[in-house]
Amino acid sequence: MNKIEIDKESGFCFGVVKAINKAEEELQKNGSLYCLGDIVHNNVEVERLEKMGLITINHEQFKKLKNVRVLLRAHGEPPSTYEIAKQNNIELIDASCPVVLGLQKKINKKYVRRESDDTQIVIYGKKGHAEVNGLIGQTEESAIIIESKDDIEKLDFTRDINLFSQTTKSLEGFFEVGEIIRARMQNGAKLEFFDSICRQVSNRVPNIQEFAKKHDLIIFIAGEKSSNGKVLFSECKKKNPNSYLIHSPDDIDPAILRDDISIGVCGATSTPMWQMQAVAENISKLKPEMNISKAAF
Ligand code: SF4
Repeated sequence: MNKIEIDKESGFCFGVVKAINKAEEELQKNGSLYCLGDIVHNNVEVERLEKMGLITINHEQFKKLKNVRVLLRAHGEPPSTYEIAKQNNIELIDASCPVVLGLQKKINKKYVRRESDDTQIVIYGKKGHAEVNGLIGQTEESAIIIESKDDIEKLDFTRDINLFSQTTKSLEGFFEVGEIIRARMQNGAKLEFFDSICRQVSNRVPNIQEFAKKHDLIIFIAGEKSSNGKVLFSECKKKNPNSYLIHSPDDIDPAILRDDISIGVCGATSTPMWQMQAVAENISKLKPEMNISKAAF
């Protein structure tokens, strides 16, 4: 059964689609545009847009710019970025995802209230991740970040806790951490648990598990820095140990392409469809007898 199928449910989420469309629209109009940080955690897609004129800058470079236009990507930014833009007459093209903006607002509201009641604001997420930086910025950097259940010793269980999550973390991991914290609360202190995981990621889990089970070999393509890529790939691996993570369509190891197998190609919310198609085409060049499922295109 020589067959390649691309998972039609994989690919950009609406937040990333909006940011990329915005960038392309601006580049077509003006030829070049600054973008604060990688527009998406996918180097190959970043390179494609850079060829069109996108200039990726970091926060240090951003501080030095004046009188220019800068795109903010879907991950969102802390309030300090908006302040710098105001001071330096930078026009922001804000493509922050509405889901992330909603979460920032919620955290900020809790932070303002917290000033009077000493509640700990806790974010389950990756330290240094762009979205997490934007979230802790809502609390004047005072929120406590926990990356895993091993980090919960940082918390004071005798004081109230408001627990949030980075939008792309695993739902399972977040609920587990929440339950462990709840069991440790003391002296009447309360845990308020806010499920802030984006369903664009968590809803893909059952689908990707089914997809992984259907095939003999899974090739999952995502950028090295993609958080949801790590989550979704680990779900594939759980259901199909014969799953491989690659970062570019050219990374396919011919040794894994045995004869007479069914191959599934899938990816993260930061993986464009064109990259999954390029993976399928590269496989069929290496194995010309492979049949790419028509439904895939
Ligand atoms: S994963 Fe969700 S929160 Fe993140 S950019 Fe996509 S839609 Fe927005």
